[in-house]
Amino acid sequence: MKSRVYFLPLTNGKNPDAENIKRFNSFLNVVFKETKFLSSLSSRKRIGIKVHFGEEGRENYLKPEYVREVCLFLGQDGHQPFLLESATLYQGVRQEEKTHFLVAQKHGFTLKKVLAPIIFVDGKKGESYYEVGGKKIGQKLRLIKFLINLAHFKGHLATGFGGALKSIGMGLAAKGGKLEMHSVSIPYIDESKCTFCGSCAEYCPREAIRFHQTRYLITNNCVGCCGCLTVCPNSAIKIKWNTTSEELQSKIAEFAHLILKDRHTLHFNFLIDITPNCDCLPKTEEPIMPDIGILASLDPVALDQASYDMTKDKIKEIYPNLNPEIILQKGEEMGIGQREYELYEV
Ligand code: SF4
Ligand code: SF4
Repeated sequence: MKSRVYFLPLTNGKNPDAENIKRFNSFLNVVFKETKFLSSLSSRKRIGIKVHFGEEGRENYLKPEYVREVCLFLGQDGHQPFLLESATLYQGVRQEEKTHFLVAQKHGFTLKKVLAPIIFVDGKKGESYYEVGGKKIGQKLRLIKFLINLAHFKGHLATGFGGALKSIGMGLAAKGGKLEMHSVSIPYIDESKCTFCGSCAEYCPREAIRFHQTRYLITNNCVGCCGCLTVCPNSAIKIKWNTTSEELQSKIAEFAHLILKDRHTLHFNFLIDITPNCDCLPKTEEPIMPDIGILASLDPVALDQASYDMTKDKIKEIYPNLNPEIILQKGEEMGIGQREYELYEV
């Protein structure tokens, strides 16, 4: 049987005005009823909602009005929603909880507006994790068994597109998990930037950073937690971004598989304000195509496949050298879901 993907056409979705929110609310009614996502939950539950708050300086991200609507919906049924995010691997304001929280507030994800608090699943600096199958997943996700994934669907420089699978696989991994996806090596210290303050060596939970002769070095005791990247005041600790697009997509699928396998999840892709790059880019971009709408499914592979099918001509034009379908193939091979789907327009 094909997986069902629900589709709400919304040609001006970038603007969450009263009419769009009303239509989104009707869509939620249909999706929750048809999927029985909430009716299978016996009592009041803590439900994690995966979101991306958007990088500082960027306007293209999923607007909080949509997130609020989902939180209201869950609240009516007596459930407690939480917004879930994790630290970035690259250096910037979203690399640690304190400043990441400020960006979220600035972009409208306040408790008053979205009616849900924020949990950064991998701790203050992205260093907090638990392992599943040897992969580093955000520690606080451990207790969350029910997930709603609200992904802004857009292009991506390294993977071609970013949708539901990437939102889970990359977005809920701890910083060390992101390192594994992006690099085949441990971090290194850029001597030209190091001022020998010693903060990294003092911080490292594995005592993997040593002063040797004239410089600080990261030794093989390093487990790649990436906490030191955030601690260094001079951005002297670097990673090598040296995985290929194929490896990156395969690893994202692997992480998504491990995160989703013991959880009850429902996924949404917002095909609105579709930009060439992901929401980690610190600047606002022009969309590459008109808004399409919102898609939802219990099956994130079918959901990403349907979303990709609606956008692939443009994505192939922008990234002619990438094969964005690897994540779909891997996702299907791993049993996360299937690529065959039926579209059900609401
Ligand atoms: S040296 Fe390795 S183990 Fe130590 S903090 Fe840095 S990434 Fe983590
Ligand atoms: S924290 Fe940064 S500047 Fe300080 S010793 Fe470590 S690498 Fe050098």
